[in-house]
Amino acid sequence: LADSALSAAQASSLNAFLHIDPELTRAQARAADAALAAGNAGPLAGIPIAHKDVFVTRGWRTTAASRMLEHYTSPFDATVVQRLAQAGAVSLGKLNCDEFAMGSGNENSAYGPVRNPWDPGCVPGGSSGGSAAAVAAGLAAAATGTDTGGSVRQPAALCGVSGIKPTYGTVSRFGMVAFGSSLDQAGPIARHARDLLELLDVISGFDPRDSTSLEHCDGAPNQPGRVRAGFDAARAAQAAAGAKPLQGLRIGVPTEFFNAGLADDVARAIEAALQHFESLGAARVAVSLPRTSLSIPAYYVIAPAEASSNLSRYDGVRYGHRAAQYRDLAEMVSRSRSEGFGPEVLRRIMVGTYVLSHGYYDAYYLQAQKVRRMIVDDFQQAYAQHCDVIMGPVTPAVAKPLGVNRDDPTADWLADVYTLGVSLAGLPAMSVPCGFGGPQGRLPVGLQIIGDYFSEGRLLAIADCYQ
Ligand code: GLN
Repeated sequence: LADSALSAAQASSLNAFLHIDPELTRAQARAADAALAAGNAGPLAGIPIAHKDVFVTRGWRTTAASRMLEHYTSPFDATVVQRLAQAGAVSLGKLNCDEFAMGSGNENSAYGPVRNPWDPGCVPGGSSGGSAAAVAAGLAAAATGTDTGGSVRQPAALCGVSGIKPTYGTVSRFGMVAFGSSLDQAGPIARHARDLLELLDVISGFDPRDSTSLEHCDGAPNQPGRVRAGFDAARAAQAAAGAKPLQGLRIGVPTEFFNAGLADDVARAIEAALQHFESLGAARVAVSLPRTSLSIPAYYVIAPAEASSNLSRYDGVRYGHRAAQYRDLAEMVSRSRSEGFGPEVLRRIMVGTYVLSHGYYDAYYLQAQKVRRMIVDDFQQAYAQHCDVIMGPVTPAVAKPLGVNRDDPTADWLADVYTLGVSLAGLPAMSVPCGFGGPQGRLPVGLQIIGDYFSEGRLLAIADCYQ
């Protein structure tokens, strides 16, 4: 299996993989075989997966799709990588993405764009574009991704696969190349909710090496088994309900998610999905998330602010790219950074340092933090008063052709409108395929299911019922 998966990955023209090392993969496959033979195999023994290239790995290089880290190999594995290896999963290598996970189309990779398996002329979404494309093309059974403002949900939607971003703090960020530390969260991408459950349950859990890792989730210890318990409980309730398994489930549909910016084909697919949920017994209620449009400016102040701080570590001194020519230390740092970072990363650093600078901090960064609080309150009010889950689109439109918006970088930022609020609030949310749109009706559409804190198991059970 490992050999055929490796040759498929190597032969693929999608540019989804950045690094493949057959020897490392074969060693993991042999270990999984041995564990199976000995009867002590982990729950994912032999399952071929691959990692977004922002998870550090001891064997494979980790570049974060940047020239800055072109030759970097980590001396340790990220916690997510380690936990999946311990569960027996076999890694096929490292997956392409937007540089430092900044982007929505995988066009910001220093190593070229990834192609959407449904239409190679279109983007796969981003930033976890390689992860979604690899799963959609059948190159890997599952892949890891990271979601700072939608990067698991959005590429999953545009590639017709499933993905989940868990509650902030439930999965360790240790060994994830940092972008926006108060937003970054790892999540799996796979075909079905059941596959996501297997992966998410393994990677979830408290990690003392991540300072924002949670020890408890609503009283329950944050450890493997928690997500599965939530899933099993929800599944049992569904089974008891008989023909209408989702009887009693209140689905909040935010009016702000269905405005003029939403393409008709996407709106139709979402409407069909909602009707299907109603046929399963769920009730639809209109809710309001009034600060939805403000999530864009709030996110594009906070995320670049955190990025500018996180990326200050790339100074050309300890690791990463160092310029060949310089006259003094200051020039070495500035040249190394201008050469190593791509245009979108430089843009974010400029925005981030600006909004954090003396005189502008109050006007921008502090304001954005206040808006963030209000966005949290909007979601909490919806859950407290009206609904159990929230559903809507992941993206305003299906995958765009490669190269669109090249001269208008902020146009892509606006398309993140349905995913950013969830990230600012730290809530769990998933994307499940719900139909097709686009000119020939062959580009996937994703349905977003947003839960309250720690409801990952329930979300997966609801998706499982639909799938
Ligand atoms: N598209 C968003 C951005 O460019 C989200 C990226 C992410 O979630 N990593 O910042």
